Amino acid sequence: LVQLNNVHLAFGDNQVLQGIDVEVRRGQAVSIIGPSGSGKSTILRCITGLLRPQSGAITVGETRVDALRTEAELIALRKRVGFVFQQYNLFPHLTVLQNLVIAPTRVIGRDHATAERDARALLDKVRLGHKADAYPGELSGGQQQRVAIARALAMRPELILFDEVTSALDPETVGEVLTVIRDLVDDGMTCVLVTHEMRFAEEISDQVYFTEAGRIVEHGPVSQIFGQPRSERTRAFLQRAL
Ligand code: ATP
Ligand code: MG
Repeated sequence: LVQLNNVHLAFGDNQVLQGIDVEVRRGQAVSIIGPSGSGKSTILRCITGLLRPQSGAITVGETRVDALRTEAELIALRKRVGFVFQQYNLFPHLTVLQNLVIAPTRVIGRDHATAERDARALLDKVRLGHKADAYPGELSGGQQQRVAIARALAMRPELILFDEVTSALDPETVGEVLTVIRDLVDDGMTCVLVTHEMRFAEEISDQVYFTEAGRIVEHGPVSQIFGQPRSERTRAFLQRAL
């Protein structure tokens, strides 16, 4: 479903991605782990078309993301690729339900009744059916993040990217967000997850990529990365991180 081939990206003379190859198959959960500044978020932003690499190819389904030119093409891509990150950025003046209804009705012209029915089902899925009429400010961080996940799902994306979605949360609410992601993975949603929660990555991933200084040092199934890493650098990172 997603493929990055030899992707290079620089900010000025800072070479941030130096030949990245990543493959995500439909229905897979893929985690990207690695030290701070190694390029994990940059990879996700390339997949959404938010950043354009200097060279290399990025495809999502049949779409060559690196070749998209018009705003309309980028918007079309973003309907297909859900993106959830550390800051939930909910609309504070809208209720939880309204936060979920606004994009499907305004951006893809779904009728209001359908969007609202979808939204209620998604709120049940993230275990927040009882908070439909609350405002974001009345919710805990973990609850707001679950609303943000439901909002991404409301566009019925083909895949969903998570960038350290639990990093800003109180420890006691991290688990409820991870549970929601685990449910999505179990449902067969294609997920790409950047996370510092190594145990969680180990538990849910089909494939794990270890990045360092803009390169993929190693990738493979959980059994390899967490069990018998081929690279000494992967081993050293996990020893510190676990
Ligand atoms: P973290 O774990 O801290 O989130 P990361 O692996 O996600 O790190 P990136 O955010 O992808 O790292 O950043 C990789 C490099 O690119 C860093 O050196 C960062 O300073 C640089 N960088 C990221 N975004 C920009 C930007 N918009 N302009 C300039 N440099 C940037
Ligand atoms: Mg990051």
